[in-house]
Amino acid sequence: MRVYILTDLEGVTGVTLWRQTGPTHREAYLEARRLLMADISAVVDGCVDGGATRVTVLDGHGCPYNMLPELMHPAAEYICGKGFPRGWGMEEGYDLGMQVGAHAMCRTANGVLCHTQNHTTDARYFYHGREMGEIAQGALEMGHFGVPCVFVSGDDAACREARDFLGEHCVTVAVKKGFGRQCASLLAPARTGALLRAGAREAMQRAHLVPPMVLPLPIPARVETLLEPVDDDVPASQIAALPHRVREGVCATALDIYSF
Ligand SMILES: [Zn+2]
Repeated sequence: MRVYILTDLEGVTGVTLWRQTGPTHREAYLEARRLLMADISAVVDGCVDGGATRVTVLDGHGCPYNMLPELMHPAAEYICGKGFPRGWGMEEGYDLGMQVGAHAMCRTANGVLCHTQNHTTDARYFYHGREMGEIAQGALEMGHFGVPCVFVSGDDAACREARDFLGEHCVTVAVKKGFGRQCASLLAPARTGALLRAGAREAMQRAHLVPPMVLPLPIPARVETLLEPVDDDVPASQIAALPHRVREGVCATALDIYSF
């Protein structure tokens, strides 16, 4: 079984603040990267437990390089850097997909670090008229290659969103419970590590239960964004009232959903 793992940073164990998600605050960001590697390692352990023959990890968070090579699980290979190939290398062939460190879409109530693609522009993405966040976007990329997304970890809001889009058979592991966009009740890495490993192992048995996420083609798409970015801590109620621009287009395939 070949596993493709898409990673993000906001939904990782122990990450609750924007300052942890980028290099401006070096120490906080470095700690978050260590926590990311621990979550990945636990999930790869679960994949290996479940019989994985190949595990590929994509460094999907916005900064071009989040991985700490010396902490990468030796059973995995990983893709990182700038300018990912179209399809993120998935055309090489995978049996199932996973998302680690995922976060809920823009404006999700109590979604820890929730956003879609850009957290300073209140960006919202709609396909066939339904709003979707990064979890669905990642699952659609996988679905283009016939790969089902069978595992998602993040906060409890990300897990709910994953089940909404991917169904009850998708394994979800909540590593924190949000009280707000930058506040959560957290579990210790030793505890989440065990949960992530067990969840990934379980997901390895579920590829046949979760259909790949696909939409009818072509895909009508719309994105709404603020005209001007805002600071991290402006309340959502104020952001919604600021002027937005709308862009509409049509995506020939799911590989075009970010670039229409
Ligand atoms: Zn991210």
